[in-house]
Amino acid sequence: MLQRAKAAYLGLAVGDALGATTEFMTPNEIRAKYKIHRKIIGGGWLYLKPGQVTDDTQMSLAIGRALLSAKRWDLAGIADQFLVWMKSKPIDIGSTCRRGIRNYMLTGQLETPYNDGDAGNGAAMRMAPVALFSLGDEKVMERYALEQAHLTHNHPFSDAACLTVGKMVQRALLGANRFELHELTRDLVDHHGNFRFNKYSGNATAYVVDTLQTVFHYLFSTASFEECLIGVVNQGGDADTTGAIAGMIAGGFYGLDDIPNRWLKKLNREVRAEVEAQALHLVRLSPWAARNLYAQS
Ligand code: MN
Ligand code: MN
Repeated sequence: MLQRAKAAYLGLAVGDALGATTEFMTPNEIRAKYKIHRKIIGGGWLYLKPGQVTDDTQMSLAIGRALLSAKRWDLAGIADQFLVWMKSKPIDIGSTCRRGIRNYMLTGQLETPYNDGDAGNGAAMRMAPVALFSLGDEKVMERYALEQAHLTHNHPFSDAACLTVGKMVQRALLGANRFELHELTRDLVDHHGNFRFNKYSGNATAYVVDTLQTVFHYLFSTASFEECLIGVVNQGGDADTTGAIAGMIAGGFYGLDDIPNRWLKKLNREVRAEVEAQALHLVRLSPWAARNLYAQS
């Protein structure tokens, strides 16, 4: 389980670092430049170093830092870590995230008001640490998912996406097969038909509906972590974030051995070390660990 948890969190970081190269490109532009983009080489519109990660991983690490320092769910601690991160002048920050963190800075409120424009993927992209910390109790995960989401994003599509991504990561870690994961997407589509992805349009934007359609399309039409991630990032658009979300689910599902070593080796060393350490410590604080690791005596 601890290895799988690492794989989910590393999958997120690898997807972010790989996809950042093709963020905001079209599939045709990607094909013209790389044929198939399959290496962690940095670059992209942010001019990254190879292996450098962006806001998707950085905001996830901010959540993890807050939880590991409090050793309990600490929403104000997460908001504070977001603020520390925003003040560190990150290389990129989504406009909805910036507005939400500013709202917290100015008012101290831990929930941003409902906003029609909040259906971006910025809350769903940081679900990995939440899923690990609440592993073994889906109801608790749901509450944490929405609380952390509402720091910056308050929209039913974002909410639904966070819940589905959180469940998929947790169920993948607990050994679900692809049919069981697919069933979770059907629950989502039953409530929000716009997430339907059986006729994939090719839109991979930051609109969370497009984002999850892209992730699901490649997750369920491929047979390895590598194939899934290559499919997603060559779709362009918000490629680092579709990469991050696909990476956390596929990482948890396929496990550490299925993440190409050449990608892990390229990942920024400090980031990789913190991701691995957080994955272990978050799971050790989870309800799953209370039942399975410390259940003797
Ligand atoms: Mn990003
Ligand atoms: Mn992005």
